[in-house]
Amino acid sequence: MSPESILLVEDEPAIADTVVYALATEGFAPQWVASGEAALAALARGSFALAIVDIGLPDVNGFDLFRQMHAAHPALPVIFLTARSGEIDRVVGLELGADDYVAKPFSPRELVARVRTVLRRTRRAAEPPAAATGFAVDDERKQIRYRGAALELSRIEYRLLKVLVERPGRVFSRDELMSRAWDDPGAAFDRTVDAHIKSLRAKLRAVAPEEDPIVTHRGMGYSLREAQ
Ligand code: CA
Repeated sequence: MSPESILLVEDEPAIADTVVYALATEGFAPQWVASGEAALAALARGSFALAIVDIGLPDVNGFDLFRQMHAAHPALPVIFLTARSGEIDRVVGLELGADDYVAKPFSPRELVARVRTVLRRTRRAAEPPAAATGFAVDDERKQIRYRGAALELSRIEYRLLKVLVERPGRVFSRDELMSRAWDDPGAAFDRTVDAHIKSLRAKLRAVAPEEDPIVTHRGMGYSLREAQ
């Protein structure tokens, strides 16, 4: 996985240096700009996972900059930095829709921890399709939860369900499902997909008997029912 780019908008080089260093040490790819204008130019050119914005910039108020950034890139998470420890700044920043707020002086480690937290939160929020259908895939544990219950799945069942859950509404042919779920797709027959889907359905029914989230499309394949 390539490192996540973080845009840092800060006019004080000494602060920028320590933040850039801390971010880079923690595996991020920081890019530093010292003005609002440069920030907007950088955002227009590249894609960033998150922006850290100093409120006191030379050419523009950080809040105004945030409004412009947010209009052009509504999904970009933003953490404000400010020298002022005023509660008003905090409230204004969060009301504008910033994701977090760090008052100077701060420790770079603390800031990086906030960056991680905001990224985790926004990543979760960016995945509503699966969540809305009642499924949650934990790829690290190779586990899928359905309506809060951890499913006991075979390796093939796990892979099949993961493919469906990640794209609710998308119809997958048996061939597509086979090529994604089997190590050796050539060894499997069509009926095998059907057999695994059948067993998956039984496991899902055991959790929520009234629901049938896997939809059969005759002659085409299967899909996961989209959230209503
Ligand atoms: Ca400043």
